[in-house]
Amino acid sequence: MYPIPVSDPRVSELITWYLNALQRAIDIIWENIDWKYRFPRIEKRKQVVIIPGKLKVPELPKSKSFKKKLRDELLLNCPYARHWVDAVIRTAYSIMESWRKRYLKGRARKVMPRVRRRFARCKITLMKVDYGEKKIRITVRPGEYIEVSWSSRWFTRRVEGWRVGEVILKDDRVLIPFKSTRIIKVRNVIAWDSNELSLDGFSPRTGFIRVDLKPLQSMKFIYEKKKMVAQSKGLKSIYEKYVARERNRERDFINKLATGLRKLFPNTIHVFEDLEKEGLVSKGKASKSRRKRNARTPWKLIHKKISEKAITVKVSPKNTSRTCPRCGCVVKTRVGRLFKCPRCEFKLDRQKLASINIYLKYSKMRGFPHSDDLEKTMKEELWVGATRAGGAR
Ligand SMILES: [Zn+2]
Repeated sequence: MYPIPVSDPRVSELITWYLNALQRAIDIIWENIDWKYRFPRIEKRKQVVIIPGKLKVPELPKSKSFKKKLRDELLLNCPYARHWVDAVIRTAYSIMESWRKRYLKGRARKVMPRVRRRFARCKITLMKVDYGEKKIRITVRPGEYIEVSWSSRWFTRRVEGWRVGEVILKDDRVLIPFKSTRIIKVRNVIAWDSNELSLDGFSPRTGFIRVDLKPLQSMKFIYEKKKMVAQSKGLKSIYEKYVARERNRERDFINKLATGLRKLFPNTIHVFEDLEKEGLVSKGKASKSRRKRNARTPWKLIHKKISEKAITVKVSPKNTSRTCPRCGCVVKTRVGRLFKCPRCEFKLDRQKLASINIYLKYSKMRGFPHSDDLEKTMKEELWVGATRAGGAR
């Protein structure tokens, strides 16, 4: 997704209408939800568990007649091209579907979703893309257009030959999703574990890889102190200035880290633990037994940025920090820096253990044969650093 700045008051007007219509559509869908009693089914590894006890499950209205009524209603108040109404309806359904999924998993409350961010998602039928001129024409009203061009942008060369997807309008910019049709040959896999002050990787080609995150930590630590001082003196505007600066520095660091990793490891799949699942997996168990992950480090943002720049895969974090990679024995306790398998005597620095288990999970998922030279690769190590203020990686 690449941004192109625009300054056109029509865009903001369109977004304002779009959001009103979107919330209206969500209202109408919400009012027409059919709450059905169901026996919820939970699928878990080929087993389907049906929970005894009925639950009220929301079914979204999807009949043709309902959709027609919804469309007609929204069209009453639409000064724009009709396709914008269809764009609104589609976005409303996707918001409701994702709310429904989260609700059934117990992650969302029974409250109607509210749209908070200002945006308008376009439809392909509202766009005319000229790949020769690198221009996109977006229909506002029949016969009235907004034009954006991606020629001579900083990313122009990078997206050469790629296809354009549905753009998103923001108040001051247009976000263009480019899709590459290139086929990327994967030559390397790296499994990453997030540790307290480092990102620890394992790759069957490179061995262990260690990315030092201390510069990020110390930067954040300094800002924490500065913010505390500003807060204690009641200097709100200065406090906010520090918040914004810290965020910028953090983003800058993570961007450089992600770019650096892509350059250092081309054609690589990066495997991460699914942090969303973390709470679910170790539920109930004492959280102190979890590997220490520094709360100061923005792991989710790091994962997100890397996934924007490289190919990433997620695996479940279950037992990755206490399984013996050689014999598969799951060890109960986790003490000391060194992991020692009680069954086969395998020894490894605990910080490196999870990354190799994450790799093994991934290769199992893909049906890779478990190669014998894995233990040989485990003797290799690569240290990687990311500088904070530009310069060499
Ligand atoms: Zn073992």
